[in-house]
Amino acid sequence: MKILSTKDYHRHPCFNAKAKGQYGRIHLPVAPKCNIKCNFCDRKYDCVNESRPGVTSNILTPEQAGVYMQRVLEKEPRITVAGIAGPGDPFANGEETMATMRMVRQNHPEMILCVSSNGMNIGPYVEELAEIEVSHVTITVCAVDPAIGEKVYAWVKDGNVVYHGKQGAELLLSRQLGAIKKLKAHNITVKVNCIVIPGINDHHVEDVAKMMKELGVDLLNCMAMFPNVNTPFGNIEQPSKKTMEEIRVVGEKYLPQMRHCTRCRADAVGLLGDDKTEDFRSCLTECTTIKPTAKERTYVAVATREGVLINQHLGEAKRFQIWARVGDKYEKVDERKTAEAGGGIKRWHQLAKILGDCKAVLVSGVGQTPSDILTKAGVKPIEASGFIEDGLEVVYENKANKLLKGRRTSCADSACLGTGGGCG
Ligand code: SF4
Ligand code: SF4
Repeated sequence: MKILSTKDYHRHPCFNAKAKGQYGRIHLPVAPKCNIKCNFCDRKYDCVNESRPGVTSNILTPEQAGVYMQRVLEKEPRITVAGIAGPGDPFANGEETMATMRMVRQNHPEMILCVSSNGMNIGPYVEELAEIEVSHVTITVCAVDPAIGEKVYAWVKDGNVVYHGKQGAELLLSRQLGAIKKLKAHNITVKVNCIVIPGINDHHVEDVAKMMKELGVDLLNCMAMFPNVNTPFGNIEQPSKKTMEEIRVVGEKYLPQMRHCTRCRADAVGLLGDDKTEDFRSCLTECTTIKPTAKERTYVAVATREGVLINQHLGEAKRFQIWARVGDKYEKVDERKTAEAGGGIKRWHQLAKILGDCKAVLVSGVGQTPSDILTKAGVKPIEASGFIEDGLEVVYENKANKLLKGRRTSCADSACLGTGGGCG
């Protein structure tokens, strides 16, 4: 993916308090699921009343987030940061998160990209985050001692296995520490959020600060727990401002402290001191009804071994090249890992999300089930062989040619590209 390095990182209002009156952030709520359960968390997907992390009025797909972002920027040009902060964990929704980040980077190269995670599953994505210049990452670490962590987390899920108690807390901590090391090795600015829970970890924040300093973390944000009723910690009182300041003074011995955090919603928009979330609510709701048309999907995915020929079957490809028409030429703009094999039809639904901004996928062959799933999702599989550029002409210029193998472009479908590839 081509990136223009025109970003001014001082314009991140969370990492630079001086910027908070001038520059703002937009949170794109594309990540509903979570892979751990914090005992203070109560996520809400259709909430307009509460102002705290974990709530949003709507969930967007990455494509809808693209349209939403464009509409917001037209009215609020002070936005310099696009972030994903839930309402669940971005990397429990890795495909949606990465598709959204790639979309923002492609359409708004000057935008600072930021993501906030519990750290459980961010590890495998760090290289790609660095590649698309995600410059700011927040990891929430509430404990560096599993004996304390096990009180904070009800469970931790790794794939299909759920861990409870100390085992879960140990696993989460090891993933968090590994993720922070890897992020720093890739020169990414890391903030750690530590949720302060009276009687659980309030005496432990110094240990967290100490260890985070050793790992090279840049900023520590000690956040007062928000007591959500109907959660195990619903009866614990929120720490007072005085307590929080005392804790921050201790934390400051090790790391710079964030003192201006406004504990934003997962769909927050605007400046930290001039929030516009309410003003853009109807815009957000409207965007949930948008389905990208074939015309709005600007890319074409290609299954290729070497980048010259279309020569891989859909099921065989481990990566797809993403091509676009730029002026009167075709350019490769990205490369994406495919969904893991072995997941049954789930794999094809995941692939449809990974290729959510593509109008077609050029392959040497495709089975009926994946073809149906991708077609329904708006990504038309086209069987072809020969040079990639000739295949791209088929898609972008409706040029039927000898590369086409003559199947899987049903004209009964309104999204039919009219490639002349043979109907029925
Ligand atoms: Fe909630 Fe975030 Fe904890 Fe997940 S990581 S349970 S979304 S607070
Ligand atoms: Fe910034 Fe805090 Fe809001 Fe996150 S929750 S966007 S760190 S102010």
